[in-house]
Order: sequence, then C-alpha cells, then structure tokens
Amino acid sequence: MDELTHYIGGKHVKGRSGRFADIYNPATGEVQSKVPLANGSELDEAVAIAAEAQIGWAATNPQKRARVLMKFVDLLHQNMDKLAEALSREHGKTIPDAKGDIIRGLEVAEFCFGAPHLLKGEFTEGAGPGIDMYSLRQPLGVVAGITPFNFPAMIPMWKFCPAIAAGNAFILKPSERDPSVPLMLAELMSEAGLPDGILNVVNGDKEAVDGILDHPLIMAIGFVGSTPIAEYIYGRGCSNGKRVQCFGGAKNHMIIMPDADLDQAVDALVGAGYGAAGERCMAISVAVPVGDATADRLVEKLAPRVEALKIGPYTDGNDVDFGPLVTAQARDRVLGLVNSGVEQGAELVVDGRDFSMQGYENGYFVGGCLFDRVTRDMDIYKQEIFGPVLCVARAENYEEALRLPMENDYGNGTAIFTRDGDAARDFVSRINVGMVGVNVPIPVPLAYHTFGGWKKSGFGDLNQHGPDAFRFYTRTKTVTSRWPSGVKEGAEFVIPTMN
Ligand code: NAD
Repeated sequence: MDELTHYIGGKHVKGRSGRFADIYNPATGEVQSKVPLANGSELDEAVAIAAEAQIGWAATNPQKRARVLMKFVDLLHQNMDKLAEALSREHGKTIPDAKGDIIRGLEVAEFCFGAPHLLKGEFTEGAGPGIDMYSLRQPLGVVAGITPFNFPAMIPMWKFCPAIAAGNAFILKPSERDPSVPLMLAELMSEAGLPDGILNVVNGDKEAVDGILDHPLIMAIGFVGSTPIAEYIYGRGCSNGKRVQCFGGAKNHMIIMPDADLDQAVDALVGAGYGAAGERCMAISVAVPVGDATADRLVEKLAPRVEALKIGPYTDGNDVDFGPLVTAQARDRVLGLVNSGVEQGAELVVDGRDFSMQGYENGYFVGGCLFDRVTRDMDIYKQEIFGPVLCVARAENYEEALRLPMENDYGNGTAIFTRDGDAARDFVSRINVGMVGVNVPIPVPLAYHTFGGWKKSGFGDLNQHGPDAFRFYTRTKTVTSRWPSGVKEGAEFVIPTMN
C-alpha cells in the first residue's frame, strides 16, 4: 500500500505524527493508500520554511512570477492524462469530468498570467500642494487554503494560483480523501520553476486545520467545504485576526416556467443533477416547475432519462455518466436521506437505492433517484444531499417558485428556464443567490469573473478567483508623499482638509 507524504520546501516529506487516514478507490471499496495527518510541529516547520522563502518571492517582479504559472499551465497539459487518472482513482468521477476539474483550475492559472496588471496600484499627482498620493498592493506573507474532496484539482488551484502570483507563500491543506492530485500539482509548480517553500502541501485533518487557524504567521485562509465547517473556520480564523473567506454547502434550485423549452430543461437537469454523482456545490438538487401541467410533463420526460443513466467505474471510459460516491459513509448518508424522503411522503419516481454494479459490488455506487412532490418540511429538501438525487418541488405560480430559493438558507447557485425575458430579468434582479443562470443550469463563472455564494454558502466579503482573489491575497498600502522644495510652513495643529 502506498504511503503518501507532505510536500514541504520543494520536496516530499514523510509524515511523523504516526497518524494516517485510509484512501479508498470508491469504485472497488479497496484501500489503495494512506495519507499522513500532520501534527502541530509538522505544520510549524512548513510555515517557517514558507515564511523564509516568501521574502525573496515577494521581491521577484510580478512578470517573472507570472511566467512560472505559464510554464505550470504547459506542464498541466502535458500531464493531463496522468493527473486525471489519479483524480478519478481517488474521487471516483469519470475521466472526462476529472479533466474538466483540472481545466477549470488551469483556467485560473491562465488568468493569473495577468498578475502584473492586476497588482498595479493607483497614483494621484498633486493631491495637495506638492503632494502625491499612491496606493500599493502588497502580498500578505504566508497564506493558507483548506479545500474539499469534490474538486481536488480545481479548488486548490483557485486558491494557490492567485495567492502565489500575488507574491505570497502558500500552505495547502487538501481533503484527506483525495490528496494525490494536490501533491502532484505542487510537484509541477516546482518543475515550472517555483522556488522551494512557496507552495507547501500539509496533509491532515482537524488537527492540521486548527493549527492553521491559530498560527500567528498565517495571515489569510481561504476555505471551501461544508457549511458547518465553513462557519467554524470563519469564526475561529477571524477571532484570531486573520483575513478569512469560507465557501460552504448549497441547495441549488432551478425554476422551470411553463413557457420553457422542456427538452432543453430536462437535458439541463439530468446533467446538472446527476453529473459527478451530484457531488458538486453547483449541482441542481431541486427542480421547481411552475404549474401542475409543467410539473407533470417535466416528470414524465425526466423519469426515463434518470432510469437510463449509465453508472460505472471511471475505467469504463466515456460510456459512463457518473461514478460512485466518494466513501461508504457518503453513500450511506445519501441512502439514509432517500429513505427519509420516502418515509416523509415524497413520491420516489425513480428508485436507485438497489443499484449494484457487477464486478464492483463493494464500490460506493448509488443509482439515480428522482423524487416528485417534495415539500419544504422534508429532510431531502432541507439538507444538502450531495448525491445523485433530484427533488421536484412543485409551485403554483412564479411568486411561489421564487420564494423557495429566496427563503432557503443556502444561496450558492440557481437558474431559471424560460423564454420570457421579463420573467428572467425579474428573477435575476430579485433573487438573493450569488450565481444565477438564465437557461444555464450550472452558472459557474469563468476564471476572470468571481465565484461565490450568498447566505450560508459564503462567509466573508470577497469571492474566489477573478479580480477579487487578488484583492483577498493582497493588502493595500496608501502613501502620501511631499517633497517640500525648501518651503517651511511650521507646525500644523488642525487636521488638513481640502477647504
Ligand atoms: P468538509 O467540510 O467535510 O471538508 C472540507 C475541508 O475541511 C477538508 O480539508 C477537511 O479536512 C476539513 N475539515 C473537515 N472536518 C473538519 C473539522 N471538524 N474541523 C476542521 N476541518 C475540518 O467538506 P467536503 O465533504 O470535503 O466537501 C463537500 C462540501 O463542500 C459540500 O458541502 C459542498 O457543497 C461544499 N463545496 C462548496 C463549494 C463552494 O464554492 N461553495 C465548492 C465545492 C464544495
């Protein structure tokens, strides 16, 4: 069995804590490797190395820093197959979807080629007599990212690419369920010319996370994961005086108006509801058809599509729509929620609970499930399921449909399917959700815009990637300067104003 490492100071470092977590192949249920779980002293060592390396990196001009990312992007392309295989083997998603995970991160690395432009400050000549005023964007120092299992390539890159391009050193604490790709990414950054110590991967669990939250030299933390952990990290990190942004769970609704192109809506729901086995924070988990006639037609069209979903291991190639869930606990939780939906009175139109894959009976597969007549009081409506389960919650009219996402605790993504520009415009304007699709089911913004949810899906005031990432990973220094040219005005006791 492979023993994974940390990656500190530009090399692989064996774990010393004596604690490990098993890593499974979700398609077979076999343990394939173990990952070390860092203790406080291992984290301290990584932070000390990072802090020392950061001084020279911050002094490296931003164009040279951006060139490391250019080379990194080349290396990602060259290693795409190897990375995707490693990702699918630990996560379970299909190879094309694993490549999408990598490419969505790579696109953020590409955005960071523009770091020299994004880091430019502002200058006012003659802000007062003989006075110039300018502001600089400076890196924070050592910063950290704590990332979830469901996008083990994309989300680490969302975090470390802008942070490093801005001149920081980075401590990445990836998910302990699929840490191999984050380790490979760090190796590729070294191969691309990143100085040792600027990107460090410290594997671990709560102990490593708590060490990050309390570490005096870690200036900022970017977290992505479930909402209870996001709230915990935001609270503890902020109370320690750090800059913190946390992105949490989701319950994404898609409203289907009576005038929508239903075939298009069904395609959208099948992809957005069941892709990656529903283990996406932007998955659509609630379809809200407006009016019973729309709902009846929608469910009639959806049911055969859900029954026909092709489920299997990533090794089956392009013939698979989605793979297993990540762990046995994840599978059991999803099955428990489906059972609760039946008990609480929802109509299980397609039942995937008994799905079993010949030759992969120990894998963590769950077949596609489709519920109709889901109501707000049910657990399947209230909780994020994070599995291949789509809930249809019927609404009588547009206002009732709108209230569902509006009154939901989460606010990550949402969509409306309609041919009516008026309805779409009203929805975009009124909805209290961070990312909105109009006839687009998973409205994930591209790298040069920013990504972030509202309400219990996002804590902190800046989003991920795009220009916000450079704001988050830098702080502004504003300089007021005067060269007095021999004029002596004497002491001033009144606050200077522009009067
Ligand atoms: P998770 O919250 O279990 O874990 C995320 C990270 O937190 C991991 O690195 C983990 O090691 C750490 N962690 C877990 N428990 C901890 C604890 N008690 N104390 C300290 N640290 C702890 O999330 P997950 O299961 O890996 O990922 C799935 C969740 O992430 C879903 O809720 C999904 O919606 C969310 N997600 C959100 C976004 C977004 O941008 N909003 C994107 C992807 C995933």
